[in-house]
Amino acid sequence: MQTHNLGYPRIGSHRELKRASEQFWAGNITRQQLQETGLAIRQANWLTQQQAGIALIPCNDFSFYDQVLDMSLTVGAIPDRFAPLLETSPSATYPSDLYFAMARGYQQEGLDLKAMEMTKWFDTNYHYIVPEFRADQTFTLSSDKLFTEFDEARQVLGKTPKPMLLGPVSYLLLGKEKDSGFNRLDLLERLLPIYEQILTRLQAQGTDWIQFDEPGLSLNLTQPQQDAFATAYQWLRQRFPTLKFLLASYFECYGDNLNAVIQLPVDCLHLDLVRCPSQLADILQTDFTERPMQLSLGVVDGRNIWINDMNRSQILVQRAIDAVGADRVMIAPSCSLLHVPCDLTLETNGQSLPAEVKQWLAFARQKLAEVATLATLISDPESPEAQAALASNQAALAARSKSARLNRPTVQARVRALTDTDAQRSSPFAQRQTVQREQLNLPLFPTTTIGSFPQTEAIRTNRSKLKKGEQSQADYDQFIETEITEAIRWQEDIGLDVLVHGEFERNDMVEYFGERLDGFAFSANGWVQSYGSRCVKPPILFGDVARSQPMTVRWTQFAQSLTDRPVKGMLTGPVTILQWSFVRDDQPRRDTCLQLALAVRDEVVDLAAAGIRIIQIDEPAIREGLPLRRENWATYLDWAGRAFRVAASGVADTTQIHTHMCYSEFNDIMGAIAALDADVITIETSRSQMELLDAFVDFNYPNEIGPGVYDIHSPSVPTVAEMTGLLHKAMAVLPAHNLWVNPDCGLKTRRWPETAQALTNMVRAAQQIRQQI
Ligand code: GLN
Ligand code: ZN
Repeated sequence: MQTHNLGYPRIGSHRELKRASEQFWAGNITRQQLQETGLAIRQANWLTQQQAGIALIPCNDFSFYDQVLDMSLTVGAIPDRFAPLLETSPSATYPSDLYFAMARGYQQEGLDLKAMEMTKWFDTNYHYIVPEFRADQTFTLSSDKLFTEFDEARQVLGKTPKPMLLGPVSYLLLGKEKDSGFNRLDLLERLLPIYEQILTRLQAQGTDWIQFDEPGLSLNLTQPQQDAFATAYQWLRQRFPTLKFLLASYFECYGDNLNAVIQLPVDCLHLDLVRCPSQLADILQTDFTERPMQLSLGVVDGRNIWINDMNRSQILVQRAIDAVGADRVMIAPSCSLLHVPCDLTLETNGQSLPAEVKQWLAFARQKLAEVATLATLISDPESPEAQAALASNQAALAARSKSARLNRPTVQARVRALTDTDAQRSSPFAQRQTVQREQLNLPLFPTTTIGSFPQTEAIRTNRSKLKKGEQSQADYDQFIETEITEAIRWQEDIGLDVLVHGEFERNDMVEYFGERLDGFAFSANGWVQSYGSRCVKPPILFGDVARSQPMTVRWTQFAQSLTDRPVKGMLTGPVTILQWSFVRDDQPRRDTCLQLALAVRDEVVDLAAAGIRIIQIDEPAIREGLPLRRENWATYLDWAGRAFRVAASGVADTTQIHTHMCYSEFNDIMGAIAALDADVITIETSRSQMELLDAFVDFNYPNEIGPGVYDIHSPSVPTVAEMTGLLHKAMAVLPAHNLWVNPDCGLKTRRWPETAQALTNMVRAAQQIRQQI
């Protein structure tokens, strides 16, 4: 029985890649220095994996930006607009100017090349660069990266590594047609010869196994899409009868693709047994056993940070061995470890990450040790080391399930006692709208913002001084009060109708709440790549969630005390807190979400009691929480929506609940959005010229809407005319008395000069519209 790994985090255990990339982009280090950093990270990663006891170690899992972009470069799917950079970016240079231009755009030497689009990698918080395909698309092998890394890995390891390649079908599926009249899967015939060239070279270099990642198999596929897999792998198999193909999908069951998948001429099939444990039994029931195919069992969770239940994994692995024999079984993490932080041993701050919680966690390096220990436990059950590891693993799990830190019976009882009435406002929207109008007395087209104002250098400095103990809490609070006071005065001056306090006290919209709730811990170094050089450090939601005291009332109330206009309270919703944290795996996510909902509900009630008449519950992550397979959507949307409504429904009709979502595709979830029953929803629409409102119009969305009238993601200042134009478009399709005027997202990443001008123009636009009707 062999151990292997599907991929290792590439940011470096101290985010070396982030630093080096940003230095390179700023022109402070040379390309060669950046390449040296990359090489050092790869070498360290390979050695870490070898020392952990992993037999088959991946290469080509490293990337200077993104593995899908690497593939686009490798097969020469380079959009035409980047042609001016081709000459100066030879295939031996990685990362070239061309590569970073495709990722980030290029504004130099009179060129202005737009970056390729970026989108979420399946249901993770990792973002990949979307391949662009044209009807006349051609492919040519255009990068040596993968061959170079193969040689490097072999040298470091002293044995043959396993190159990983994004498989041809998933690669095409992940891309977008940039012309009409063709389907990107039609390009398979043209693409496969490049894979042939790649495999020919790898074979000559001495490779044995090739890992084809085909996560497209975790989705609902059409018949032609399923067939493309058969075409591709039969084609490659014919040309490479002796290379060993390992096919890996993850994040979901193969589901209705399974029957097609087991017919594929591959040598090993990887199963994500964390997301889909039932898959093992399913596959053993087919005629799989009669095929010459191995199974890679993904038993260690590559998406979350909890220690493995080794006992449970051992049983699963043993079941497979009993059915097909140990020589046909490999064990591995469930997916690439890209999605977890590097190394738990770097966590030394017992305050934010208590020792008790730490012993329940495993980061990438620790997960590989778990894989190796499992292998020993199975092949040599008497091994004293393996036995000791198992014993301490089981002891930690037992301690976790009994921990008082984790279990809060009152919270659990509150969730159990929730009724449908708790998840519903007292009166229907129409009635609420009437009383809210009376009591808020806002003009038509009320103007507001999404919550945050620019996080200036001064704010960041003060926060870091407070953290380091160089500033007292009292001084810091004084500073925040001054910032809020200025923001309120300024909003009044430019004539906004519904004000915000500005969120100056918040580092991050999830971390801020996590830090104020029981049940959360925080790593100091638990960074995970989100895209390119951007990393996130998700809070660790380990236990029952409880709110022991108000989290935002002080600042909101202070802001309200400065003005007669309504100040909108700002909260992050339960689904978004869940979605952007590492969440406990010992109870359904639904239950954890309802605990969060109760905590937010208490805050909403306290804000209302403190005189706050409008409260916004941000849920930008509801959509990204959607399961990969459509058959699971309804269940998710049902509990996610219920959690939001539990959070929103503790207050009287007079309290106006807003929500905000900063994404664009509402069509397929419109029913669920409407079911949230927020009094006002603010959304992103500016970039698509209000076309996104169509979903709301088609649905006859009854409640109030603030379609973003300008794009905050760019520093350019929108003109009054641009915004009145958009508002006219919105008025043409929606009742004017339901419309709000606001930017399309929070302003924390902007600077004050453009923010001031943009919002001033926005208020003018609303005033003009009011005069015209
Ligand atoms: N209230 C948050 C802000 O303005 C919303 C952020 C978001 O939508 N991601 O920053
Ligand atoms: Zn937003």
